[in-house]
Parts: sequence; C-alpha cells; structure tokens
Amino acid sequence: MSSTSIARLLSVASALCFFLLINTAWADEKSDMERLDAIQTVSDRDNEEGLRQLQEFKSTLTSETTDTIRLETLKILVGLYYDAGKMKSSDATVSELLQFAEQHHNNDAIALAQISRCFQILDEGKPEAALAKLMQVQELVKGSKDPEVNMRLNNAFGVMYRLSGKFEQALTHSLEALRLSDYLPRRKVQTRLSRLYAIATLYWNMKNPEKSLATIKEALALSPLANAPKIFSSLLIAQGLALSNLGRNDEALDAYQKALKIGIDSKMPGVEATALINISDHFLIAKEYRKAELFSRQALAKAETIKDKDSVAGAKVNLGFALGGQGKIAEGVGYVNEVIAYFKTANSKADIESIMGELSSMYENAGLYKEALTTTREQQKLSSELFNSDRAIAIAGLQEKFNADQRQKQIELLGKENDLKDADIKNRRLQQIITLLGAVVTVMAGIFIFLLYRRVSKVNEQLQQANTQLEFHAVRDPLTGLHNRRSFLELMKSRIALAEAERREDSGDNPDCLILLDIDLFKHINDTWGHAIGDSVLTEVALRLKKTVRDTDMVLRWGGEEFLIFSPKSNPAQITRLVDRVLRAIGEEPIQVGHIAVPVTVTAGYISLPFSGVPENICSWEKTLQMADMALYLGKAHGRNRAYGLSRLLVPHEQAMPILDHDLSAAISAGMVEIIEVIGPLQKKISVLESEAT
Ligand code: GH3
Ligand code: MG
Ligand code: MG
Repeated sequence: MSSTSIARLLSVASALCFFLLINTAWADEKSDMERLDAIQTVSDRDNEEGLRQLQEFKSTLTSETTDTIRLETLKILVGLYYDAGKMKSSDATVSELLQFAEQHHNNDAIALAQISRCFQILDEGKPEAALAKLMQVQELVKGSKDPEVNMRLNNAFGVMYRLSGKFEQALTHSLEALRLSDYLPRRKVQTRLSRLYAIATLYWNMKNPEKSLATIKEALALSPLANAPKIFSSLLIAQGLALSNLGRNDEALDAYQKALKIGIDSKMPGVEATALINISDHFLIAKEYRKAELFSRQALAKAETIKDKDSVAGAKVNLGFALGGQGKIAEGVGYVNEVIAYFKTANSKADIESIMGELSSMYENAGLYKEALTTTREQQKLSSELFNSDRAIAIAGLQEKFNADQRQKQIELLGKENDLKDADIKNRRLQQIITLLGAVVTVMAGIFIFLLYRRVSKVNEQLQQANTQLEFHAVRDPLTGLHNRRSFLELMKSRIALAEAERREDSGDNPDCLILLDIDLFKHINDTWGHAIGDSVLTEVALRLKKTVRDTDMVLRWGGEEFLIFSPKSNPAQITRLVDRVLRAIGEEPIQVGHIAVPVTVTAGYISLPFSGVPENICSWEKTLQMADMALYLGKAHGRNRAYGLSRLLVPHEQAMPILDHDLSAAISAGMVEIIEVIGPLQKKISVLESEAT
C-alpha cells in the first residue's frame, strides 16, 4: 500500500471516528434531555418525587455531559427546590447556575439565574430592589432571541408589576410571556398553563373576576393535554376564588372540592391543605361556622403533617374565625394571634393587616366595639408602616386619597360606639349637660379616630394613584374633557418656578385657592342606576362646575368622582361665596339623564395657598392639599353636602404646622385653626339615600 493511500485511509478513519464521537455525544444529549423531560413530568404530579429523581440524575452527570444538559439540570432544579419550599437549596443552586453561566460567558443563562435572584429579592420583601435588578437583566439580554429568556423575563416583570399594583404593565408583560411560551422548544403546554394561571391571578387582582374566570376556562380546556395535576389543582382553586367573588358560591365550593379530590388522588397533601382552607373559607363567608371549623381543623391537620407553615397559618386563622363566629371569642382570638405572631416573624405586614381587618369585624359582630376599634387602630399603624416602606418614598409628595371601605367601616364603628355612649348618658340625671359635653367629646374623638384612620389608610390608594400618574401622559380626562391630575402637577411645577418673592408680593390678600370636591354616595348612584348613568352624572357635574367658576379658574378631574378647583388670586370671602355657589350648582337641581332624575350632592374641603401666610417652603402645595382633603372628610363625617374651609391659623405656624399637616382634628381641638362651614342646599332625597347607605 502506498503512503498516499495509507494517509487517505487514516484521514477517512479519523473522519469516521469524529463523526461517531459527535453522533454519540448527540445521542447522549438527546437521551439525557428525554430523561429530564420525564423527570419534569413526574414533578408536575409529585414535586418531591421529581426533585428526588433530579438530584439522583445530577449526581450521575460526568465530565462527558454537555453544557446544555448541565444548564438545563440546574435550571429545573432551581424551580423544583423553590416549589418544594426549600429556599436555601434553591438559592445555592441559583449560585451554582450563575457561576456555570459566567464561566461559559453565556448571557442567556446568566439572565435566567439573575431572574431567579430577582424572585429571591422579592421574597425578602424588597419589591423595588427586585424590579431594579430585573431591569438590569433586561439590559443584559437586550436583543436576545432565546424565547425562554424572553418569556421568563416578561413573566417576572408581570409578577413584579402585579405586586406593585401596576396592573396595566403587568398585563402587557404577562400576555407577552404567554405568547412566547408557544416558541419554547420543550414543555409548551405546561408553560402555557402556568402563564394562563398567572394572567388569571392578575385579573383577580384587577378585580375582574369575569376575565379571571374566562382565562381559567381556557387553561382548564388545555390541561388534559398536559397531565399536570399540580397546575390543574391551582387553576381549580383560582376558579373557586373568582366564582366566590362573583357570588357564585356553590360553584366555587364545587371547584374547591374538585381540587381537593385531585390532591387526594395524586397524593399532593399541599393541594389538599389549600383546598380544605378554601372550603373552610367558603363556609366562613356563608357564616356556617360549624362547617368552617370542621374543614379548617382538617386543613390544619394536613398542613401540620407536611410542615407547611403558610398553610398551617391559613388553617389556623380560619379556625380562629370559625370559633369566633360561634361565640368562642377567646379561643378564636388565641388562634388568630398565633398566626399574627407567625406573620410578624415572617415580616408579612400585608397579611397581618388583612387579618387584623377580619379580626376587627369578628369583634364587631360580637358587639365588642372597643376591641374592634383597638384592632382597627393597630391595623392603621401597620398600614402606616407599609406606607413608609421603600415604595412610598418614590411617590412622597403626591396627593392624598383614601381607602373608602376602611373609612366607611370606621364611620360605622364610631356610629355604634356613639349609640352605646348615648344609652349610657340617658341614664344620668344631668342628662342635658352631659349629652352636650358627651356629644362634643364624641364628635371630637370621632373626628380624631376617623382622621387618624383616614390618614393611614390612604396608603394603597396613594400608591395606585401615583402609579397611574406616572403612566398617564394625556392632559385631559377623556370622560369629562376636564384637565386631569397631570396637568395640575405641571401647573404646580411651573408655579414653584415662579420667584418666591414675586408670589409673596401679590399673594398676601389674594392667595390662590384649592377646592377639593367629592361626590356624595356616588357608589350608590352607580349601584342604583348603573355605571353608564354614573358616567353621565360625572360629565354633568363637570359641566356645572365649569359653568360656576370664573374663567381664570381651573377645574380638574382629580380622581374617580373627585374634582379639584384651582382658583388663582382669590380673596377668602370670594372663595366662600364660590364654594357656596358650587354646592348649590350641583345639589339644587337633580341631574337629568334621559328620563331619570338623579339627586346629586358634593362635599368639599377648601384652603388658600399659601395658607394663612405661611411660606410654601414650610407649607407646600401638597401639604395644603392634604389639609383640604382632611377638611373634605370632616364634611363627610358631618353628614355630607357641605364644605369646610380652613380660613386661617390662630397660633404661630411653628406651633400649628407639626400638628395640622397630619391631624386636622387635633389642630381644631387645640384651637389652632379657624374653620368655616358652608352648608349645601336642602336635599330631601339624599338623606334617604344616606340612611340606606349607612
Ligand atoms: P362618599 O360620600 O363617602 O364619597 O361615598 P361614595 O360612594 O362616593 O364613596 P367612594 O369614594 O367609595 O365611591 C366612589 C365610587 O365611584 C367608587 C367607584 O366605583 C366609582 N367611580 C369611580 N370612577 C368612576 C367612573 O369613572 N365612572 C363611574 N360610573 N363610577 C366611578
Ligand atoms: Mg371618593
Ligand atoms: Mg364619593
């Protein structure tokens, strides 16, 4: 054989070897990937078992194993540890994944590890930091074509925005994540199911149970394809929640029971516990406390066997309320307090706050109004702490708006407490004098507690408003055609730009004036005649306001059914006359929508800016508006269809401002500020509405 033919033979042989090598590696990778698929399928039904198999698989990896398989193994492991609640192991695996990705300069894999980090940060209770990090990840993989990275990134944005109340943005990202799930090389259906579940949860948060339900329906139709009882049962629970929200309680119970059956059949004690908790919840809502007790005890037993702390807490809190509902207050409160203590160690303020709300209702139902109020106050304190969290810093300085439900509840509680006090007083001989004094004290205390309540409960609303503010770029409100809040903020910005001296010069007798108005019992209008009529009422109120003010005044739609009038260079007497005209313009004649005559009144708070000659670097427009808002709610507490104006300070501002800027009632009772009351036109119908609504 010649040397050339030997060389040719050798080269053919080496090419063959190379081909075989590649082919073997490819075959290995394929079979490894199939194994991973199989393990994930197991984990869909049984997370623990999936985790066990995956750990075993990982220990068999050799130096021959391809990078793709190593990466995939680590990625799946992170998720399974997370689902199993094994956070430390999950964190450690994220670090391993990150290290591996960095060694291989694989940006997509780095991003996936970083996204998991974001969720860790979120779990530590730092949503802002999590979002900031997520934005860095986005920069890192800008332009990446990897559908998994893009899908996970969008999903993470969806979750973060949802949790910070930016629902529109959350929806955009969640829908994009859903779309991208179709481009994944593996587990399309399972991923699609999880994304649909996330969207259903989002709609639920957006208080849109119908859409939530429709999304779940779409997912449930898919789930037989996925054979994934874990997600299927989550969907059923979500379905139950949406149905219960729509008042379809029997169907809700049915969904929970189906989830329970899956939990039992597929040996998923976690699902069983969750379903049982929701079933007990259902009976709590129905006020069937005995049944609620029965199911919460079952849930508790189940949750304890798997040592799932959150489920234990959920079961205990339901058990506590079930017992409380049966009059066993002390025993019930024992359980509830245990859960509060647990959430305190977990630093879950939002959970504590919501439990406190329910606890307060439990006391209220038992006629223990004092305890109810104490609990409500603790709840306020928590709200205020939540408010002072890092998210609030970003929006500090924006206007006030308050959580109407809490406010309404506070009014009701005060009403009941007042009833008790009245009864007490009637038994005394100096009835008249004491009634008078008692009334003053009660009203003052009432106002105090009420304002205290209101001050802290504004938090969530404020955040939402701020978010909307940041996102909304139009200057006009589409419904009424009025200026919106954004244009007011802009106006205030340009106002600040005005030289302080120049303003002081002409603002002594003629300061600017802010009048904040809120339609009375507007919910009742919506409930009675529907939202379309409600909208027409808003439009007509806007029109009447425009007609009543001077050409130089600016009318804005401040929020849902709140309006703001900015009246530049007005003297106080003029303003009180203007406020009187406004109350009459709205309240004197019912608003005619087609053949329906809707009686409408408003309550207002007003104030001049600068207030009582206090320089605006001490009393800013934001603080001033906040005071107008406090005055407005003073009007609500005093029966609506009226306005309160803060006319001037009666003591030096150094003394008054520290109190006044957050506690109008205290300032009034300390004689620090003069108040003007303007009563609206006589309204027979409104008083009927009011007695129905309260
Ligand atoms: P109060 O006298 O205490 O102000 O009672 P209220 O019923 O007006 O209280 P609340 O502020 O809680 O209710 C405002 C309602 O206004 C709730 C919301 O559904 C409704 N609303 C907000 N924006 C709009 C809107 O653009 N159109 C319609 N139709 N309703 C709206
Ligand atoms: Mg309102
Ligand atoms: Mg209102």
